[in-house]
Amino acid sequence: MTTTPHAPVGNYIAGEWLPSDACGRLAITDPATAETLGTVPDSGRTEVDRAVQAARAAFPAWRRTPVPERARVLFRLKALLDEHHDDLAVSLSREHGKNVAETWGEVQRGIENLEHASGMPTLMMGDTLEDIARGVDCETVRQPIGVFAVITPYNFPVMIPLWFWPYAVAAGNTVVLKPSEQDPLTHQRVVELAVQAGLPPGVLNVVHGRREAVEALIDHPDVVGVSFVGSSEVAKIVYARAGAAGKRVQALGGAKNHMIVLPDADPEMVAEAVVGSVFGSAGQRCLAGSVVVGVGDVYEPVREGILDGAAGLRIGRGLDEGVDMGPVISGAHRDRVKGFIDEGERDGARLLMDGRGVEVPGYPRGHWVGPTVFEDVTPEMPIGREEVFGPVAGLARASSLEAALEMLARSPYGNAASIFTQSGRAAREFRYRAGISMIGVNIGVAAPMAFFPFGGTRNSSYGDLKAQGRDAVSFFTDQRVVISRW
Ligand code: NAD
Repeated sequence: MTTTPHAPVGNYIAGEWLPSDACGRLAITDPATAETLGTVPDSGRTEVDRAVQAARAAFPAWRRTPVPERARVLFRLKALLDEHHDDLAVSLSREHGKNVAETWGEVQRGIENLEHASGMPTLMMGDTLEDIARGVDCETVRQPIGVFAVITPYNFPVMIPLWFWPYAVAAGNTVVLKPSEQDPLTHQRVVELAVQAGLPPGVLNVVHGRREAVEALIDHPDVVGVSFVGSSEVAKIVYARAGAAGKRVQALGGAKNHMIVLPDADPEMVAEAVVGSVFGSAGQRCLAGSVVVGVGDVYEPVREGILDGAAGLRIGRGLDEGVDMGPVISGAHRDRVKGFIDEGERDGARLLMDGRGVEVPGYPRGHWVGPTVFEDVTPEMPIGREEVFGPVAGLARASSLEAALEMLARSPYGNAASIFTQSGRAAREFRYRAGISMIGVNIGVAAPMAFFPFGGTRNSSYGDLKAQGRDAVSFFTDQRVVISRW
């Protein structure tokens, strides 16, 4: 596999790559080497307005394009992504930091969303019922609404935009995407391939930038709805701002995922699942395990298994052979994660493995944090309550499933939680009472596939419709109900 340097990237508006020189530019860096990979525009209201106007102009003709034709563009894009899968994975590893097996998997998850969204001719069908009254029939039709804004985070920069825009455009809408400013280059390549697949100018536009661009998109009178994924803090602001403007909005936020281990679980299997969940992608996943709650005597063997597994992880540049865990995205984020570890120590959690001092030979400027394991973590401590988004495990003990569920109930987040047990009854009880959206039973990362909804509850998601699945169709269409008498 080779890595190709990226050229400076522009905004993609109305079928053209615009340098957008009037605004400043943002540098994208390789988190393992701190080398600059490219730059993107730091767009403001002018660039956003231009993109929204392009999307608005493209809407009437795109809406009239037959649904199978719209879906066929996604079929062709799927084939192109299959063809370029390896290169995309390498490019993504380079700008994000995670290893190539992880980025390959991410691209695959993105492709699966294209496959699912390609079923739009069936997904968008409405219902009909004759004789709702004597001689009166009723039918529903799902119609596209207009221009949607899609705003995405850095941790899955290829997959998360594909949770939204393929569904939006297959349903007949047009889109302005504002990807994360930290690693937008590989998705830009996906957009180039979408153009090659036949997506007409103006149907999908990309505006790079930060907060100003996001606010301009939300405030724009011609944007009818907003799909957002990012931290809870920003998700809440986006939800409130878009809601106040009367727009439909889905805003997915952060997480603090618990993994509950019952005494009848197999400690070896649990430790392996926990290590994969907590330390995969250096903990930068909204489905990453964060707090491991051991019930009874299983606690000790699980703790030892986690420590063994974590000690065996090879840390390094994601592009290098045999690397298990890459760097975190930026120096600022590394310092934030280390700050949580400092605070955990001060709060009295016992540090069993400390990743703060990790160095990787040959990469002195990488943003490294090694696997870190605490025990005696409580829900009052920031390390046990707040999202760290780094390779940090907090272990806690509970006397019973009941006590573990109480711990879970106090979490401000509701994204994912897992139980490890051989008891169907306990698993059923957990599913029934956890109050969490994505539930794993003997699964470390409970990631719903494209045809199922993805998203949380509590502070992990604002809005009622989730990403992917049928919710995506509901979000990007309005149901019109026709009642007729002839
Ligand atoms: P972030 O909130 O910093 O940024 C997300 C997006 O919002 C980016 O496009 C960014 O440019 C923009 N943004 C940042 N600050 C803003 C502000 N003040 N006003 C308006 N827009 C702003 O998130 P991130 O660090 O890129 O991503 C990591 C976060 O995303 C984690 O909290 C993670 O849990 C969450 N996440 C959640 C899910 C989910 O399914 N719930 C999935 C992936 C990531």
